Amino acid sequence: MMTPMYDVAIIGLGPAGSTLARLLETRYRVIAIDKKSAGENGFQKPCGGLISGDAQKALASFDLTLPKDILVDPQIFAVKTIDLKSRLIRHYQRCYINLDRHRFDRWLESIIPDRVEVHQNSSCISVERTEKGFSVSYAEGGKTQTVFARYLVGADGANSVVRRTFYPARKIRHYLSIQQWFPETHPNPFYSCIFDPETSDCCSWSISKNRQFIFGGAFPLDHPRERFERQKKKLEQIGFRFGKVVKTEACLVLRPSSFRDFCCGRDGVFLIGEAAGLISPSSLEGISSAINSAKELSRVMNRGIGDFNQRYRAKTRSLRFKLFLKILKCPFMYQPFLRKLVMKSGIQSIKMTASETEYFGNTESICPSVRLARLGINGERDGMKGFRNK
Ligand SMILES: Cc1cc2nc3c(=O)[nH]c(=O)nc-3n(C[C@H](O)[C@H](O)[C@H](O)COP(=O)(O)OP(=O)(O)OC[C@H]3O[C@@H](n4cnc5c(N)ncnc54)[C@H](O)[C@@H]3O)c2cc1C
Repeated sequence: MMTPMYDVAIIGLGPAGSTLARLLETRYRVIAIDKKSAGENGFQKPCGGLISGDAQKALASFDLTLPKDILVDPQIFAVKTIDLKSRLIRHYQRCYINLDRHRFDRWLESIIPDRVEVHQNSSCISVERTEKGFSVSYAEGGKTQTVFARYLVGADGANSVVRRTFYPARKIRHYLSIQQWFPETHPNPFYSCIFDPETSDCCSWSISKNRQFIFGGAFPLDHPRERFERQKKKLEQIGFRFGKVVKTEACLVLRPSSFRDFCCGRDGVFLIGEAAGLISPSSLEGISSAINSAKELSRVMNRGIGDFNQRYRAKTRSLRFKLFLKILKCPFMYQPFLRKLVMKSGIQSIKMTASETEYFGNTESICPSVRLARLGINGERDGMKGFRNK
C-alpha cells in the first residue's frame, strides 16, 4: 500500500495547531495529529483557562465569538496579587474570560474544515527528515502509522517532539506546572496570583470554575511536588481552603529568558505557539501567541510565494519582540525587592472598599465578615489573614 503524502502535517491541535488547520487554504492537503480524545476522557491540557485581552483580540480578528457553553462561572475582572514574602496583597484590574480550557480546545477543533484530515487520540512518536520532506509516525488505536508531508508544523506545545527532534540544542527554561482541583468552599470566589520566592522563582495562581477551586503553580524541577505542597500549607495559613482533592494534573510550561529561546524553525520545519517558545515569561499567558503565530504562518503559506521559513520568521518578529519586552519586565514582578516596591506604590492597583483594605492580622481592625467567621458564622469575605492591603 502507498504511504499517504500530504502538503502539511500539523502535530498538535491546541490553539496554535487548530487555528492553522482552520486557516490553511484548500490547495493544501493537510493532516493534523493530536493526542486529545474527542470526549471528556483522555488527555486534557492543564491550564488556567483564562482568555486574556490579547487572546480576545486575536479571536476577534477572525470575527469569532465564543459559544456560551465553554464559559464557566464566575467571570472575573480583577486579580488578587499576593506576595507571601513581603505579606502584601493588591488587586489589579484584568479583563479575562474564564472558560473551560478543554471545551475551548474542542470548540477550536470543531471549526476546522472537513477537508483537513484530523486524527484525534493519536500520539506522534517520531518525525524525520526525508528526501522529499518529512515522515511522521504516530500511534493510533494501538497501531503505528506513518505518513509523509512536504512541510512539518510543530504545534505540540511545551514538550514538543518536533522541537526536541530538530532543535535539541535549543533548550528553553522550563518548569513543572502542577494544578489541583477541589470543591469550591470559599464564600467569595476569586482569582489570585501568588508569589513565593521560597518555593518557586515563578508564580502560582488560583481560580474558581463552576464551583470548583483550582490551585496551580509553576515550580522548578527540583522536588516540584514538595514545593507545591509547602506553598499550599502557607496559603492555608492565610485563609485558602483546599479540602478534598478532586484531581491533580501536571505538565511542563516554558518560560523564555532570552530572545534566542524563540525558535520559528527552518528548512520546511515550522514551530508555532508554545513549541516555538512563544509564551509570556511574566504571566505564562500563551493562548494569544499561539493563535497569532498560527495566523502569521497561515498567511505566509496561503500567499504561496517566497521562502516560507524566512517570511514566517519576519512576520513573527514583532510578536517575539513583544515577548522579549516581557522578559525585561520580569524583574519588576519576580525580584522580591522590586516587586515589593511596585506593590507598595499601589500603581495601577484598585482602591478597595473599607472591609477589603483592612490589615487582617490586627484583630481590632479585622473585617466584620472574618470576625463573623471566627465566631463560626458563615458569610465571611475571603480575608487574607495577616496581610496588608494598603
Ligand atoms: C497550568 C498552566 C496554566 C496556563 N494558564 C494559561 C491561561 O490561563 N491563559 C493563557 O493564555 N495561557 C495559559 N497557559 C499557557 C497556555 O496553556 C499555552 O501557552 C498554550 O496552550 C499554547 O498553545 P499551543 O497550541 O501552542 O500548545 P498547547 O495548548 O500545549 O497544545 C499542544 C497540543 O499538542 C498536542 N500534543 C502534544 N504532544 C503531542 C504528540 N506527541 N502527539 C500528538 N499531539 C500532541 C496536545 O494534545 C495539545 O492539544 C497555561 C499553561 C499551563 C501549563
